[in-house]
Amino acid sequence: MKGRLSVKNLTRYYKLRQRDSLFSRTKLLKAVDGLTFDVAPGEMLGIVGESGSGKSTTARLLLGHLSPTSGEVSFGGEKVGAVPDLAWRQMRRRMQMIYQDPLGALDPRIIVLGQLEEPLIVHFPELTRDVRRAKVRAVMGEVGLSSHHGERYPHELSGGQRQRVIIARALVMEPELLVCDEPVSALDVSVQAQVLNVFQDIRERNSFTGVFISHDLKVVRQIADRVAVMYLGRIVEIGRPDEVFHQPQHPYSRALVSAVPRAGRSGRERIILSGDPPNPVNVPAGCPFHTRCPEVRTVCRTLRPELVSDSGRAVACHLVNNPSVTREEAA
Ligand code: SF4
Repeated sequence: MKGRLSVKNLTRYYKLRQRDSLFSRTKLLKAVDGLTFDVAPGEMLGIVGESGSGKSTTARLLLGHLSPTSGEVSFGGEKVGAVPDLAWRQMRRRMQMIYQDPLGALDPRIIVLGQLEEPLIVHFPELTRDVRRAKVRAVMGEVGLSSHHGERYPHELSGGQRQRVIIARALVMEPELLVCDEPVSALDVSVQAQVLNVFQDIRERNSFTGVFISHDLKVVRQIADRVAVMYLGRIVEIGRPDEVFHQPQHPYSRALVSAVPRAGRSGRERIILSGDPPNPVNVPAGCPFHTRCPEVRTVCRTLRPELVSDSGRAVACHLVNNPSVTREEAA
């Protein structure tokens, strides 16, 4: 179907060579470990998780910037990265990415207008200069940039203005799929709010399928139609933002939600997880979260929970999905 993003059993592993005094051995770093989800046409899926959970690797896999170890991504019924060169070029212009670091994503030697025109010159060579300029000016207006910003170099703009340029550069291509990787995390809170408002406005005016990645649940809640929580390369919970935010079921989601400041809530309600996330080279057996889970049970140490769906809501936890594992049972 046009505009639907489908991800099936997607993995991305890296081989790491580890050397001790006598031997060298190869280990697998499982950055993404079996993702399956769909994003409906026009829907925005938010992905949250700590750093190292595999969010950014997922973003790159979705757009074909990285090849998967196994599994597949398809958009509009076409397999990403697996079509002939010309078709892939046409497909790529329908799929755009918004990056976390706008300064790194912009060329410091070219004024903003030139950077916004560049993708049109590459992908739509048939457009005249006047038509290109008209498109660029319209998009600049849409993201709240004035024409004088077009004459400036990236270093002459504020962080919020640079991020608007990055959004404009993606929008000028009229994308059908927009993947946003931590697009506001480098901005201070007041600028974040302005850029999120820009996002909400462009979502109302443009029709595209989206994936919005952030470590900040509050940000994702504001922008997404559904939220997926990732831990060590896997989705542990997926549901509507109000469900995940108000009634998180997975113990990891509960800890993430408890860390979001809310009026009237005391600091004592915060769930503090013990330790750091495990090294993805040595993912624990059973449930990967069991080494930090405040509700761990015996079965969690040996049996990996599957992501079980219940009318659109899905959770990977024995405690939620298996009635024989009760909350009273001691680990
Ligand atoms: Fe915790 Fe067990 Fe659920 Fe994993 S499966 S989140 S260890 S209760």
